[in-house]
Amino acid sequence: MQHKPPAQPDPGLSADSSHSPDQRIGPNISTRRRQLLQGAGAMAGAAVLAACGQQAERGSDSAEQPRRRWKMVTTWPRDLPGVGSGAQRLADRIGELSNGRLQIELYGAGELVPAFEVFDTVSSGTAEMGHGAAYYWKGKIPASQFFGSVPFGMTAAETTSWLYYGGGLELWQGIYRPHGVQVFAAGNTGVQMGGWYNRPIDSSADLRGLKIRIPGLGGEVMRRLGANVINLPGSEIFTALSTGVIDATEWIGPWNDLTFGLHQAAQYYYYPGWQEPGSTLECLINAKAWNELPANLQAIVRIACQSITLDIHAEYTSRNQQALQTLVGEHGVELRQFPEQVLAELRKTSAQVLQELSESDPDSAEIYASYQAFLRNVREWTAKSEQVYLQHR
Ligand code: CA
Repeated sequence: MQHKPPAQPDPGLSADSSHSPDQRIGPNISTRRRQLLQGAGAMAGAAVLAACGQQAERGSDSAEQPRRRWKMVTTWPRDLPGVGSGAQRLADRIGELSNGRLQIELYGAGELVPAFEVFDTVSSGTAEMGHGAAYYWKGKIPASQFFGSVPFGMTAAETTSWLYYGGGLELWQGIYRPHGVQVFAAGNTGVQMGGWYNRPIDSSADLRGLKIRIPGLGGEVMRRLGANVINLPGSEIFTALSTGVIDATEWIGPWNDLTFGLHQAAQYYYYPGWQEPGSTLECLINAKAWNELPANLQAIVRIACQSITLDIHAEYTSRNQQALQTLVGEHGVELRQFPEQVLAELRKTSAQVLQELSESDPDSAEIYASYQAFLRNVREWTAKSEQVYLQHR
């Protein structure tokens, strides 16, 4: 079954070819300079023709290269906005960039394997590729939780900086290597929302006994503050919230939450998403399949993952602001910020949970040290750049 991704705006990465060099320089150009430029233009034209010739040759070569067909299993329902549709777009993009030499067929959660078996399926090679989020593998690799999202941790932009220019990606690849899995970042949701509550949270005492769906480290923080934490897959959230099985839930943000209809099941919509301030998504690749790829296909996969990271984050930012307006303007949702005292308690408890996780195994210790060191430095820069700028915009 073919899935056509929605039309995508050009994110502005393509070079501006609408002006020739002559047009940019203007009409006062000297004759000698114009001749030189025309000469250069002719040379550039010859180079383009030569490159086209090489491309044609390579094209005929590549037609003889084996065409690979890979399976991609995902932790998301097929076409779930953002995460699921983003995974499909990544698969399509790799096929397009490789001119069909590497074609990826996507399987949504439960179509080939259940969501939480994605990592093992890629590790064993039953599927060559997977798309998910690292904190799903905490039972197998506790340190993976630092690569999903960290409560009160780095934003999407800061996390990407740590991964690409702070040694984070190498650490991430290091903990998956013993499992025969290669990994790249492949998406980010940006800051999530705090979630939907059927009773107001005026102080941290109101968290006691609260039945809430919240996974991962955020769930552990809530549990320590007295909440009754319940884990549910996304598909069961609406019914559980509307029937009172749970009093509250976090999911992702306005775009996804509106799609789920959560505004019909709870009264208050709290922010910010302290539990997931910038959740990174991941592309998993079976190590043997990865090592068998020629270098140019490896480059295509790597760069497609980088491009989808930018793409998914950009789409979340755009769709979230539209959906928030719909939730408030059309559905009368009551937006509330968590009180300072609640955020302070959540932050204090998060630090304790992270410290204990870092002491639980050597990988977690090493990764948390790297994460903390990067955060310590980058927050100084963020405070003096985006933070103060945004306060005064
Ligand atoms: Ca979430």
